[in-house]
Amino acid sequence: MPARVCVLGPSGRMGRAVLEAALGRDDVRIAAAVDRPEAGGLGAEVTGGVCASADLDAGLLACDVYIDFTAPAATGAVAVAAARHRRAAVIGTTGLGPAEEAAVEQLARVAPIVVAANFSLGVNLVLGLVQKAARALGPAWDAEVVETHHRAKRDAPSGTALMIARAIAAGHGVDYERVKRHTRDGDVGPRPHGEIGVSSVRGGDVIGEHTAYFFGAAERLEISHRATSRAIFAIGALRAAAWVAGQPPGRYDMLDVLGLE
Ligand code: NAD
Repeated sequence: MPARVCVLGPSGRMGRAVLEAALGRDDVRIAAAVDRPEAGGLGAEVTGGVCASADLDAGLLACDVYIDFTAPAATGAVAVAAARHRRAAVIGTTGLGPAEEAAVEQLARVAPIVVAANFSLGVNLVLGLVQKAARALGPAWDAEVVETHHRAKRDAPSGTALMIARAIAAGHGVDYERVKRHTRDGDVGPRPHGEIGVSSVRGGDVIGEHTAYFFGAAERLEISHRATSRAIFAIGALRAAAWVAGQPPGRYDMLDVLGLE
């Protein structure tokens, strides 16, 4: 049986990509589409017989799993409602604050959920590669992450850049919070040993680019990923939805879905 999916934010960039990627798949079926009350297009059909609605409870009751690419406040509020209905979730919204993270953790106690700042196969491979590189090279090779996204992106650094930076810190065997440096401005002095820098570039319609740099003496390693279509995230999220619907309660990531370690 295909997993019945409720798509949040069908009017958004990622919501539209999920609806399009679901066409023709037999492991998922779009059962509902829920947007915020002020969103355009409420009442209009978004895919085979499914209309956009602002009725969150009805959308959750109609599905086995919901897919959330919205905004942090929405993600927190929906997780609270989903916990009441014990609905599985695929959550891709980035920039969550502590209250929203807590709501997501609460949901994971009663339902299976996949949370990922990036649903692409390539980026999830990059996480493993940078951790390996950081372990092999050590902090003597200065590690920096640079991310570029479209001008409408609200949060910085990107959730993916943070995952990559954390994977480098794990490779160095250090706590990321102690070594992080998000952008530089003014007289910041020489680069401290072991610092991990993250810089954000915003402009145009760039879907998402990430490069991890490792600067050695007279040589440099770069591990890059470039997304050229939102379809890669949408396909990953749908794959996660089909997978998570059959799992016991708990919080999973894309490495679990893809069977990667
Ligand atoms: P967007 O602004 O184009 O779309 C957001 C959508 O959410 C809109 O349709 C809006 O109406 C809807 N929404 C807001 N509040 C809602 C609520 N309470 N209930 C239902 N719908 C609600 O944004 P986007 O570019 O699609 O990105 C959305 C999020 O996904 C961002 O946090 C972005 O960083 C993240 N993202 C994650 C990945 C990934 O792979 N994890 C990939 C791309 C984007």
